[in-house]
Amino acid sequence: MHTLGWIGLGHMGAPMAKNLLQAGYKMNVYNRSLEKTASLVESGATKLNSPKEIVEQSNIIFIMLSDAKAVQAVLTEENGVLNATKEDKTIINMSTISPEESVSFAQLIEAKGGTYVDAPVSGSVGAAIGGQLVILAGGEKKAIEISKPYFNLLGKETIHFGSTGKGSSAKLAINLLLGIIGQGIGETLLFAEKSGLSKEKVLEMISQSGMNTPLFQGKKDMYRKEEFPSAFMLELMSKDLGLVKTAADHLDITLPLAETTNTTYHSAKENGKAKLDMAAVYVELRDQNTE
Ligand code: NAP
Repeated sequence: MHTLGWIGLGHMGAPMAKNLLQAGYKMNVYNRSLEKTASLVESGATKLNSPKEIVEQSNIIFIMLSDAKAVQAVLTEENGVLNATKEDKTIINMSTISPEESVSFAQLIEAKGGTYVDAPVSGSVGAAIGGQLVILAGGEKKAIEISKPYFNLLGKETIHFGSTGKGSSAKLAINLLLGIIGQGIGETLLFAEKSGLSKEKVLEMISQSGMNTPLFQGKKDMYRKEEFPSAFMLELMSKDLGLVKTAADHLDITLPLAETTNTTYHSAKENGKAKLDMAAVYVELRDQNTE
Protein backbone atom coordinates (compact mmCIF):
# COMPACT_ATOMS: atom_id res chain seq x y z
CA MET A 1 0.00 0.00 0.00
CA HIS A 2 1.27 3.50 -0.87
CA THR A 3 2.18 5.90 1.92
CA LEU A 4 0.42 9.21 1.41
CA GLY A 5 1.71 12.69 2.16
CA TRP A 6 -0.45 15.78 2.66
CA ILE A 7 0.78 19.39 2.49
CA GLY A 8 -1.72 22.08 3.52
CA LEU A 9 -4.30 21.58 6.26
CA GLY A 10 -6.56 24.59 5.85
CA HIS A 11 -10.38 24.65 5.58
CA MET A 12 -10.28 22.11 2.72
CA GLY A 13 -7.04 20.20 3.20
CA ALA A 14 -7.75 19.06 6.78
CA PRO A 15 -11.07 17.27 6.14
CA MET A 16 -9.82 15.85 2.82
CA ALA A 17 -6.70 14.42 4.44
CA LYS A 18 -8.84 13.02 7.26
CA ASN A 19 -11.01 11.10 4.80
CA LEU A 20 -7.95 9.33 3.35
CA LEU A 21 -6.64 8.62 6.83
CA GLN A 22 -9.96 7.18 7.92
CA ALA A 23 -9.93 4.89 4.89
CA GLY A 24 -6.89 3.23 6.45
CA TYR A 25 -3.99 4.78 4.54
CA LYS A 26 -0.72 5.57 6.28
CA MET A 27 -0.31 9.33 6.03
CA ASN A 28 2.36 11.95 6.69
CA VAL A 29 1.19 15.54 7.13
CA TYR A 30 2.78 18.99 6.98
CA ASN A 31 1.35 22.46 7.42
CA ARG A 32 3.28 25.77 7.51
CA SER A 33 1.63 26.60 10.86
CA LEU A 34 2.56 23.32 12.48
CA GLU A 35 -0.18 23.46 15.14
CA LYS A 36 -2.82 22.76 12.47
CA THR A 37 -1.51 19.18 12.22
CA ALA A 38 -2.81 18.34 15.74
CA SER A 39 -6.23 16.93 14.84
CA LEU A 40 -4.78 14.80 12.03
CA VAL A 41 -2.10 13.46 14.34
CA GLU A 42 -4.84 12.56 16.84
CA SER A 43 -6.48 10.57 14.03
CA GLY A 44 -3.26 8.65 13.37
CA ALA A 45 -1.24 10.76 10.91
CA THR A 46 2.48 11.38 11.33
CA LYS A 47 3.53 15.02 11.53
CA LEU A 48 6.69 15.90 9.59
CA ASN A 49 8.61 19.16 9.66
CA SER A 50 9.03 20.10 6.00
CA PRO A 51 7.61 19.45 2.54
CA LYS A 52 10.94 17.75 1.70
CA GLU A 53 10.45 15.20 4.51
CA ILE A 54 6.91 14.58 3.29
CA VAL A 55 8.16 13.67 -0.19
CA GLU A 56 11.04 11.58 1.16
CA GLN A 57 8.70 9.50 3.30
CA SER A 58 5.63 9.24 1.03
CA ASN A 59 4.87 7.96 -2.49
CA ILE A 60 1.79 10.00 -3.35
CA ILE A 61 1.80 13.61 -2.17
CA PHE A 62 -1.22 15.89 -2.11
CA ILE A 63 -0.87 19.69 -2.03
CA MET A 64 -3.83 21.86 -0.96
CA LEU A 65 -2.71 25.47 -0.50
CA SER A 66 -4.20 28.94 -0.96
CA ASP A 67 -2.64 29.98 -4.23
CA ALA A 68 0.24 29.60 -6.68
CA LYS A 69 2.58 31.69 -4.51
CA ALA A 70 2.12 29.18 -1.68
CA VAL A 71 2.59 26.21 -4.04
CA GLN A 72 5.74 27.82 -5.49
CA ALA A 73 7.06 28.26 -1.93
CA VAL A 74 6.55 24.63 -0.85
CA LEU A 75 7.99 23.35 -4.12
CA THR A 76 11.11 25.50 -4.29
CA GLU A 77 12.11 26.40 -0.71
CA GLU A 78 15.29 24.87 0.69
CA ASN A 79 13.38 22.06 2.38
CA GLY A 80 10.82 21.97 -0.37
CA VAL A 81 9.16 19.27 -2.47
CA LEU A 82 11.58 19.51 -5.41
CA ASN A 83 14.56 18.65 -3.24
CA ALA A 84 13.18 15.16 -2.68
CA THR A 85 11.22 14.55 -5.90
CA LYS A 86 12.37 11.63 -8.04
CA GLU A 87 10.89 8.81 -10.10
CA ASP A 88 8.12 6.96 -8.24
CA LYS A 89 6.85 10.17 -6.59
CA THR A 90 3.43 11.43 -7.68
CA ILE A 91 2.54 15.02 -6.76
CA ILE A 92 -1.17 15.84 -6.88
CA ASN A 93 -1.82 19.57 -6.66
CA MET A 94 -5.42 20.23 -5.62
CA SER A 95 -5.02 23.99 -5.01
CA THR A 96 -6.81 26.40 -7.34
CA ILE A 97 -4.19 28.04 -9.54
CA SER A 98 -4.02 29.08 -13.21
CA PRO A 99 -3.50 26.57 -16.03
CA GLU A 100 -0.16 28.22 -16.91
CA GLU A 101 1.05 27.85 -13.31
CA SER A 102 -0.02 24.18 -13.35
CA VAL A 103 1.96 23.55 -16.52
CA SER A 104 5.05 25.27 -15.14
CA PHE A 105 4.86 23.35 -11.82
CA ALA A 106 4.43 20.10 -13.77
CA GLN A 107 7.61 20.90 -15.70
CA LEU A 108 9.53 21.40 -12.44
CA ILE A 109 8.31 18.07 -11.04
CA GLU A 110 8.85 16.18 -14.29
CA ALA A 111 12.40 17.55 -14.61
CA LYS A 112 13.11 15.62 -11.39
CA GLY A 113 11.51 12.44 -12.78
CA GLY A 114 8.28 12.76 -10.80
CA THR A 115 4.68 12.72 -11.98
CA TYR A 116 2.35 15.73 -11.62
CA VAL A 117 -1.43 15.90 -11.64
CA ASP A 118 -3.52 19.06 -11.35
CA ALA A 119 -6.70 18.19 -9.53
CA PRO A 120 -8.52 21.21 -8.09
CA VAL A 121 -11.95 20.55 -6.64
CA SER A 122 -15.49 21.82 -6.93
CA GLY A 123 -17.40 21.85 -3.65
CA SER A 124 -16.74 23.54 -0.34
CA VAL A 125 -16.01 22.42 3.23
CA GLY A 126 -19.24 20.42 3.64
CA ALA A 127 -18.46 18.41 0.49
CA ALA A 128 -14.85 17.98 1.62
CA ILE A 129 -16.02 16.56 4.97
CA GLY A 130 -18.55 14.27 3.30
CA GLY A 131 -16.20 13.03 0.54
CA GLN A 132 -18.58 14.58 -2.01
CA LEU A 133 -16.22 16.83 -3.95
CA VAL A 134 -16.00 16.86 -7.73
CA ILE A 135 -12.37 16.38 -8.75
CA LEU A 136 -11.35 18.29 -11.89
CA ALA A 137 -8.27 16.53 -13.17
CA GLY A 138 -5.58 17.29 -15.72
CA GLY A 139 -2.57 15.12 -16.55
CA GLU A 140 -1.47 11.90 -18.21
CA LYS A 141 -4.06 9.12 -18.22
CA LYS A 142 -1.66 6.85 -16.33
CA ALA A 143 -1.20 9.45 -13.58
CA ILE A 144 -4.95 9.89 -13.23
CA GLU A 145 -5.34 6.11 -12.88
CA ILE A 146 -2.78 6.12 -10.03
CA SER A 147 -4.72 8.95 -8.34
CA LYS A 148 -8.20 7.51 -8.88
CA PRO A 149 -8.55 5.37 -5.71
CA TYR A 150 -7.84 8.46 -3.60
CA PHE A 151 -10.06 10.72 -5.68
CA ASN A 152 -12.86 8.18 -5.17
CA LEU A 153 -12.54 8.69 -1.41
CA LEU A 154 -12.32 12.49 -1.62
CA GLY A 155 -15.14 13.01 -4.06
CA LYS A 156 -18.28 11.68 -5.66
CA GLU A 157 -16.96 12.18 -9.20
CA THR A 158 -13.66 12.67 -11.02
CA ILE A 159 -13.72 14.35 -14.41
CA HIS A 160 -10.51 14.03 -16.45
CA PHE A 161 -10.38 17.08 -18.70
CA GLY A 162 -7.16 16.25 -20.55
CA SER A 163 -3.51 17.24 -20.31
CA THR A 164 -1.88 19.11 -17.41
CA GLY A 165 -3.54 22.47 -16.79
CA LYS A 166 -6.96 21.40 -18.07
CA GLY A 167 -8.15 20.62 -14.52
CA SER A 168 -7.16 24.16 -13.54
CA SER A 169 -8.99 25.62 -16.55
CA ALA A 170 -12.11 23.67 -15.55
CA LYS A 171 -11.83 24.95 -11.98
CA LEU A 172 -11.64 28.56 -13.17
CA ALA A 173 -14.70 27.97 -15.36
CA ILE A 174 -16.83 26.60 -12.51
CA ASN A 175 -15.65 29.28 -10.09
CA LEU A 176 -16.54 31.98 -12.58
CA LEU A 177 -20.09 30.65 -12.39
CA LEU A 178 -19.87 30.51 -8.59
CA GLY A 179 -18.71 34.13 -8.37
CA ILE A 180 -21.45 35.33 -10.72
CA ILE A 181 -24.13 33.42 -8.77
CA GLY A 182 -22.81 34.87 -5.49
CA GLN A 183 -23.08 38.38 -6.86
CA GLY A 184 -26.46 37.54 -8.40
CA ILE A 185 -27.90 36.48 -5.05
CA GLY A 186 -26.41 39.57 -3.40
CA GLU A 187 -27.97 41.89 -5.99
CA THR A 188 -31.32 40.10 -5.73
CA LEU A 189 -31.40 40.48 -1.93
CA LEU A 190 -30.37 44.13 -2.16
CA PHE A 191 -32.99 44.90 -4.81
CA ALA A 192 -35.68 43.16 -2.73
CA GLU A 193 -34.61 44.97 0.45
CA LYS A 194 -34.63 48.39 -1.24
CA SER A 195 -38.08 47.52 -2.65
CA GLY A 196 -39.36 47.08 0.91
CA LEU A 197 -39.70 43.28 0.87
CA SER A 198 -39.19 41.10 3.93
CA LYS A 199 -35.83 39.36 3.69
CA GLU A 200 -37.25 36.24 5.33
CA LYS A 201 -39.97 36.00 2.67
CA VAL A 202 -37.49 36.62 -0.14
CA LEU A 203 -35.24 33.83 1.16
CA GLU A 204 -38.29 31.57 1.23
CA MET A 205 -39.29 32.64 -2.30
CA ILE A 206 -35.86 31.71 -3.68
CA SER A 207 -35.95 28.42 -1.75
CA GLN A 208 -39.25 27.52 -3.42
CA SER A 209 -38.18 28.64 -6.89
CA GLY A 210 -36.33 27.03 -9.76
CA MET A 211 -33.28 29.04 -8.66
CA ASN A 212 -33.00 27.11 -5.41
CA THR A 213 -29.65 25.30 -5.23
CA PRO A 214 -27.56 23.43 -2.66
CA LEU A 215 -25.27 26.48 -2.80
CA PHE A 216 -28.10 28.83 -1.87
CA GLN A 217 -29.27 26.54 0.94
CA GLY A 218 -25.68 26.35 2.24
CA LYS A 219 -25.46 30.14 2.47
CA LYS A 220 -29.07 30.99 3.39
CA ASP A 221 -28.40 31.31 7.10
CA MET A 222 -25.51 33.66 6.42
CA TYR A 223 -27.81 36.00 4.50
CA ARG A 224 -30.48 35.69 7.17
CA LYS A 225 -28.22 36.40 10.15
CA GLU A 226 -25.83 38.68 8.27
CA GLU A 227 -22.97 36.66 9.70
CA PHE A 228 -20.44 35.22 7.27
CA PRO A 229 -18.11 32.69 8.91
CA SER A 230 -15.90 31.52 6.06
CA ALA A 231 -16.37 28.20 4.30
CA PHE A 232 -14.88 29.68 1.13
CA MET A 233 -13.03 32.88 1.99
CA LEU A 234 -13.93 35.89 -0.09
CA GLU A 235 -10.26 36.62 -0.77
CA LEU A 236 -9.92 33.19 -2.42
CA MET A 237 -12.98 33.86 -4.60
CA SER A 238 -11.41 37.18 -5.57
CA LYS A 239 -8.12 35.41 -6.38
CA ASP A 240 -9.96 32.98 -8.68
CA LEU A 241 -11.83 35.75 -10.50
CA GLY A 242 -8.48 37.49 -11.02
CA LEU A 243 -7.15 34.26 -12.55
CA VAL A 244 -10.23 34.10 -14.82
CA LYS A 245 -9.54 37.65 -15.97
CA THR A 246 -5.93 36.83 -16.84
CA ALA A 247 -7.01 33.66 -18.65
CA ALA A 248 -9.76 35.51 -20.56
CA ASP A 249 -7.22 38.16 -21.62
CA HIS A 250 -4.92 35.39 -22.91
CA LEU A 251 -7.84 33.85 -24.77
CA ASP A 252 -8.74 37.29 -26.16
CA ILE A 253 -12.38 37.05 -25.11
CA THR A 254 -14.65 39.59 -23.41
CA LEU A 255 -16.74 38.34 -20.48
CA PRO A 256 -18.90 41.22 -19.22
CA LEU A 257 -20.25 39.48 -16.09
CA ALA A 258 -16.79 38.17 -15.21
CA GLU A 259 -15.41 41.73 -15.40
CA THR A 260 -18.01 43.29 -13.15
CA THR A 261 -18.00 40.37 -10.69
CA ASN A 262 -14.22 40.53 -10.42
CA THR A 263 -14.45 44.24 -9.62
CA THR A 264 -17.05 43.73 -6.87
CA TYR A 265 -15.23 40.90 -5.09
CA HIS A 266 -11.96 42.83 -5.36
CA SER A 267 -13.48 45.88 -3.68
CA ALA A 268 -15.10 43.65 -1.01
CA LYS A 269 -11.65 42.24 -0.28
CA GLU A 270 -10.14 45.73 -0.07
CA ASN A 271 -13.01 46.91 2.18
CA GLY A 272 -12.37 44.54 5.07
CA LYS A 273 -14.33 41.45 3.93
CA ALA A 274 -11.35 39.33 2.78
CA LYS A 275 -11.61 36.71 5.53
CA LEU A 276 -15.42 36.43 5.47
CA ASP A 277 -17.26 33.88 3.35
CA MET A 278 -17.70 34.81 -0.33
CA ALA A 279 -21.43 35.36 0.37
CA ALA A 280 -20.42 38.62 2.08
CA VAL A 281 -20.25 40.14 -1.40
CA TYR A 282 -23.91 40.89 -0.63
CA VAL A 283 -22.82 43.26 2.16
CA GLU A 284 -20.31 44.91 -0.17
CA LEU A 285 -23.06 45.60 -2.72
CA ARG A 286 -25.22 47.10 0.02
CA ASP A 287 -22.34 49.20 1.33
CA GLN A 288 -21.81 50.52 -2.19
CA ASN A 289 -25.47 51.58 -2.24
CA THR A 290 -25.58 53.26 1.15
CA GLU A 291 -24.74 56.95 1.55
P1 NAP B 1 -7.18 28.07 3.70
O1 NAP B 1 -8.09 27.53 4.73
O2 NAP B 1 -6.84 29.51 3.69
O3 NAP B 1 -5.81 27.22 3.78
C1 NAP B 1 -4.69 27.63 3.05
C2 NAP B 1 -3.53 26.71 3.29
O4 NAP B 1 -2.40 27.21 2.54
C3 NAP B 1 -3.06 26.64 4.75
O5 NAP B 1 -2.57 25.34 4.99
C4 NAP B 1 -1.91 27.66 4.76
O6 NAP B 1 -0.97 27.45 5.78
C5 NAP B 1 -1.29 27.37 3.43
N1 NAP B 1 -0.42 28.44 2.95
C6 NAP B 1 -0.78 29.69 2.54
N2 NAP B 1 0.32 30.38 2.13
C7 NAP B 1 1.38 29.54 2.29
C8 NAP B 1 2.78 29.65 2.03
N3 NAP B 1 3.30 30.79 1.52
N4 NAP B 1 3.58 28.60 2.32
C9 NAP B 1 3.05 27.45 2.81
N5 NAP B 1 1.75 27.26 3.09
C10 NAP B 1 0.91 28.30 2.80
O7 NAP B 1 -7.71 27.73 2.22
P2 NAP B 1 -8.76 26.60 1.78
O8 NAP B 1 -10.13 27.16 1.88
O9 NAP B 1 -8.41 25.31 2.42
O10 NAP B 1 -8.42 26.54 0.21
C11 NAP B 1 -7.32 25.80 -0.30
C12 NAP B 1 -7.41 25.82 -1.83
O11 NAP B 1 -8.62 25.20 -2.24
C13 NAP B 1 -7.42 27.22 -2.44
O12 NAP B 1 -6.69 27.21 -3.64
C14 NAP B 1 -8.89 27.49 -2.70
O13 NAP B 1 -9.08 28.41 -3.75
C15 NAP B 1 -9.38 26.09 -3.04
N6 NAP B 1 -10.79 25.79 -2.76
C16 NAP B 1 -11.37 26.20 -1.60
C17 NAP B 1 -12.70 25.89 -1.36
C18 NAP B 1 -13.42 26.33 -0.10
O14 NAP B 1 -14.65 26.29 -0.09
N7 NAP B 1 -12.73 26.73 0.94
C19 NAP B 1 -13.43 25.12 -2.28
C20 NAP B 1 -12.78 24.66 -3.43
C21 NAP B 1 -11.46 25.01 -3.66
P3 NAP B 1 -1.14 28.18 7.23
O15 NAP B 1 -2.10 27.32 7.98
O16 NAP B 1 0.22 28.19 7.78
O17 NAP B 1 -1.66 29.56 6.95
